Amino acid sequence: MVFDVVIIGGGIAGLSCGALLSKKGYRVLLLEAKQILGGRANSQPLQSGYIVDWGIHSLRAGDAGVAATVLQRLGLKLEILPSGEGQLFHEEKWYSLPTSVSALMATPLLSDADRSMIGTLFTNIMSANPEDLLTTSVASWLAGYEVSDMIRWIFQLYAGLILIEPDLTVASMGEMLDIMHLIIRSGKAAGYPKGGWRALLQALREQIEAIGEIRLGRTVTKIHIQDRAVEAVQIGNDRISCDTIIAAVPPDVISSFLPQTDPDSLKIIELAKRLIPTAGVTLDLGFAEPITDALGLIVSSNPFIMGQATSNINPSVAPAGEQLFTFYYPLSAKEIQKDPLAAKPMKQLKALVYQMFPKAPKPKWTRRLVLPVVDGASPRINQNRNQRLPIQTSTKGLYLAGDAHNAPGAGGDIAFNAALACVDKIASTQK
Ligand SMILES: Cc1cc2nc3c(=O)[nH]c(=O)nc-3n(C[C@H](O)[C@H](O)[C@H](O)COP(=O)(O)OP(=O)(O)OC[C@H]3O[C@@H](n4cnc5c(N)ncnc54)[C@H](O)[C@@H]3O)c2cc1C
Repeated sequence: MVFDVVIIGGGIAGLSCGALLSKKGYRVLLLEAKQILGGRANSQPLQSGYIVDWGIHSLRAGDAGVAATVLQRLGLKLEILPSGEGQLFHEEKWYSLPTSVSALMATPLLSDADRSMIGTLFTNIMSANPEDLLTTSVASWLAGYEVSDMIRWIFQLYAGLILIEPDLTVASMGEMLDIMHLIIRSGKAAGYPKGGWRALLQALREQIEAIGEIRLGRTVTKIHIQDRAVEAVQIGNDRISCDTIIAAVPPDVISSFLPQTDPDSLKIIELAKRLIPTAGVTLDLGFAEPITDALGLIVSSNPFIMGQATSNINPSVAPAGEQLFTFYYPLSAKEIQKDPLAAKPMKQLKALVYQMFPKAPKPKWTRRLVLPVVDGASPRINQNRNQRLPIQTSTKGLYLAGDAHNAPGAGGDIAFNAALACVDKIASTQK
């Protein structure tokens, strides 16, 4: 078969690009290095009867978010279930997690003076243009108001939850605003695909395979470029000719196949090298009996961690009567570089889970992951969407997509948004 587009990488960016192009009639060949699809959003059977995502994975703004837009464009009926009310563990006490303005106004964490200030802040948030504040940090935006430590802390919590970047001195207010607008206007904070991420990945896969092909276990080692236009991809001894390529891989691997001799590719490689990812450790715990009926996010304030009992939202991921818990402790990429085993934070994370749920029994099984890359590029002021990797490059036929690219959102949202933009660019270029 001759392919219209070759996609490198079967994460959510590559799969979404492939499915959207396939829906438009393009014959796609998707090449994935691993034996499974999904990349950092993979989901697989791990222990008997458990299906485990790669760390906690939820969708910002639930069915009002960008994953739902991709599914709608594909005409797929996969439902995104709303997350239930979240819980916040703060100074040894439980509170409802304030994920809406009304919940924030009602939280006992705020004083009357704070509530009045929150009113002012959110009125200004709703009228602000995200594009105007991409290079303004959340800290400098807040400095324009006389806010209490509690309000500053609430914004830290939101930056942690929305951007996975709790450092307010670097977190981009503009990037956060986009998602806040979506959440406040839709009234939906988060969601989870019905049937789990496996169902979502499978739906995208089937759309590609309707007229194209997916090959697993194929690592692309080179993109051939001649006269500033793509010619082919190389996989070991195989050369596959093509005039349109989407590289849907994270920044840390892009240099492994772009030619270092090509000046346009070198610019991309240099930019990719500079991008700082988010990072952290995760803990999956399988419990023989349920320890909570929580249907939403479970967040601890100090240290900031977030988790969920995924089997409460999607019972098919654990055996009947058992419970799957996943917790994530964000750390900086630098911290992980210095301490690649992250033994201390991992211990802290587990201790915190037992502090929150003191009656929890010993888990049946545990999985620990140390993750030097969670999101490809932290949405910081100096790596906002305009400073991330381009989607259309100056090399003819070479497109890039992923979660470190010139598209709005954070984490997986950037990957979905980049896929939408990438497919639109290919379609408009080839009209
Ligand atoms: C623990 C954790 C929790 C997260 N939680 C959330 C969340 O709750 N919400 C959210 O929105 N986001 C979340 N994210 C981020 C989200 O998973 C990523 O943003 C998203 O999966 C990135 O998708 P991608 O397609 O851009 O890249 P990837 O998923 O990295 O996909 C790239 C693919 O390319 C393949 N590849 C690489 N090199 C080659 C090559 N040479 N040849 C062929 N194939 C190659 C890789 O094997 C991989 O499958 C989380 C990430 C982690 C790690």
